[in-house]
Amino acid sequence: AYVIGPACVADYSCVEVCPADCIRPRPDDPDFDTAEQLYIDPTMCIDCEACVSACPVGAVHSQARLTQILSDYIEINASYFRAD
Ligand code: SF4
Repeated sequence: AYVIGPACVADYSCVEVCPADCIRPRPDDPDFDTAEQLYIDPTMCIDCEACVSACPVGAVHSQARLTQILSDYIEINASYFRAD
């Protein structure tokens, strides 16, 4: 699945291209006209990547790649405390 990060400006470019109709405003701000952040339903996303190129601010990321990026920090954190 793909995920929308905090860079989201909610301009709905992604909503317009999503073939699975799985991008929604957050639950506590459910109005499509005024929401400031959008989210992708991971149970409906078909990994087509259409939203990735549609997003004007690069706010959409592959969930698998996010995990990869964060896992790099296991070593980054550990190396900080290692004596040279
Ligand atoms: Fe929709 Fe495709 Fe983006 Fe998934 S990857 S949210 S199906 S546009």
